[in-house]
Amino acid sequence: MKKQLLVLGLFAAMPLGGQQAEPIDLGALNEIKWQAFNNSQVMDHLFYISDVYGPRVNGSPNHRAAAEWIVKRLESYGLKNVHLEPWGPFGNSWQYKKFYGALTEPNYAPLIGFPLAWTPGTNGPVTGEAVLTPIHSQADFAKYKGKLKGKVVLLVEPKTVLMHTEAEAHRLTDEELVARTKVADPSRLGLGFGGGRNAAAPPPVVLDRNAALKLRNDTSKFLSDEGVLVAVNYGTNGDGGTVFATWGGSQNPDDPTPPPMVAITPEHYNRIARLVQHGMAPKVTFDIETETYKSDQMGFNVVGEIPGTTKADEVVMLGGHLDSWQGGTGATDNGTGSSVAIEAIRILTTLHKPMARTVRIALWGGEEEGLLGSKFYVQKHFAPRDTMKQTSEYAKLDAYYNDDTGSGRFRGISANGNLLTKSIFEQWISPIKDLEITTVIGATAAPTREPGGTDSTSFSWIGLNGYGFMQDPLEYGTRTHHSNMDLYDRVQQGDVMQGAAIEAWFVYNTATRSEMLPRNPTPTATAK
Ligand SMILES: [Zn+2]
Repeated sequence: MKKQLLVLGLFAAMPLGGQQAEPIDLGALNEIKWQAFNNSQVMDHLFYISDVYGPRVNGSPNHRAAAEWIVKRLESYGLKNVHLEPWGPFGNSWQYKKFYGALTEPNYAPLIGFPLAWTPGTNGPVTGEAVLTPIHSQADFAKYKGKLKGKVVLLVEPKTVLMHTEAEAHRLTDEELVARTKVADPSRLGLGFGGGRNAAAPPPVVLDRNAALKLRNDTSKFLSDEGVLVAVNYGTNGDGGTVFATWGGSQNPDDPTPPPMVAITPEHYNRIARLVQHGMAPKVTFDIETETYKSDQMGFNVVGEIPGTTKADEVVMLGGHLDSWQGGTGATDNGTGSSVAIEAIRILTTLHKPMARTVRIALWGGEEEGLLGSKFYVQKHFAPRDTMKQTSEYAKLDAYYNDDTGSGRFRGISANGNLLTKSIFEQWISPIKDLEITTVIGATAAPTREPGGTDSTSFSWIGLNGYGFMQDPLEYGTRTHHSNMDLYDRVQQGDVMQGAAIEAWFVYNTATRSEMLPRNPTPTATAK
């Protein structure tokens, strides 16, 4: 009986298609699990990044202070070559130092909200009459010309607020995990490199970024020229005191500066709007202090390494972005991914096993403004996308693992359209399914034509192995992602401990594997 079980066990470890079985180092796995679950530091990393250093708008003093603290922490673990690596130019950085907002007439009520990024302060307390002046395009400017001086302008129509009838937090069910391994709509997959889409399928909706930025800049100039006191909206999502909002102005020093701008919870916004609609001329007071930093126009990434023992020129990377928005403390976006990467690399420094390849952590800047830190990094170190002229580092980058979907535990990983990788990852997952990572998705994923979503796509964009973990969504979309509630207490300790264990396990396997992981075909300069 015992012998038969052993045979079955060996059979189960054999991958399909006659590929090489991956050796599973249970000794290393046990050491990783012990560190991750019995000696975890992950919430301590998060405490510093979120509670101590606060929101980390790209390039701001908070962001830099957090980065400099991380350099010291990584050096204390024995990492080498730890430094802030500049990229850019990025533009102005910004942070706020004070926010006070209140309805003052017809009676007093404090307002829940915060200033929008790259907008100025009020130079002390200011009070003005609120007016409802929705702006959807440049054509709306004519309606309000000459009428906005000294006013608090409400930039959008009141929001229809709906009762919440569903749980705000969600873990992926087994059915959802299985569904994500399937191709829902093959017409959207494209036909490979240089291929087209199914012509019969409707084109995907693409927001014209240039038009959106032009409207922002034109609106900034119009409101500023009109002498608006403060401009107000209710953000991009949320209610019940949770305000999701990001930028109002621009980091580009050549773009126009808007008046002070804030986002407030829609219940407060709607109350002011209803008072306006009833002709009661409500008054609102704000006292906002912000600072724009122009002296250093460059961004930076935090980078550090555990040198490899026998194949030090081959590199396995892990990380996430460290920059955040300003409403909360960037705890789940992306204090968690940063803390998990720091914890995973701490765990790897404690193992009594050599790693042949160099392991490099990178905590990106400028992700929130369009994956800027990772896009600059991969094009400097590996290949500029427009020429695909490879550096000597290109052939030596084994893989990059990214964590940037909030606090949720890792339930799967994407194989990025590579069946060989799928088989390898499934074998690495097999001894840790009790940690609830069960699924390899993306077996038929299309190549990355444009980076988007998060930093792993900057790697896959130039044909390198950039992997992202699939995480339980928890409250990411409903409560924390870019909101004033993106705070330490919304992070689930057990989930980030699990993430650190799994990230360390994947990096360990990659760094000790006999060969580098298989790659997809290298894109050509012309085929995006
Ligand atoms: Zn993020």
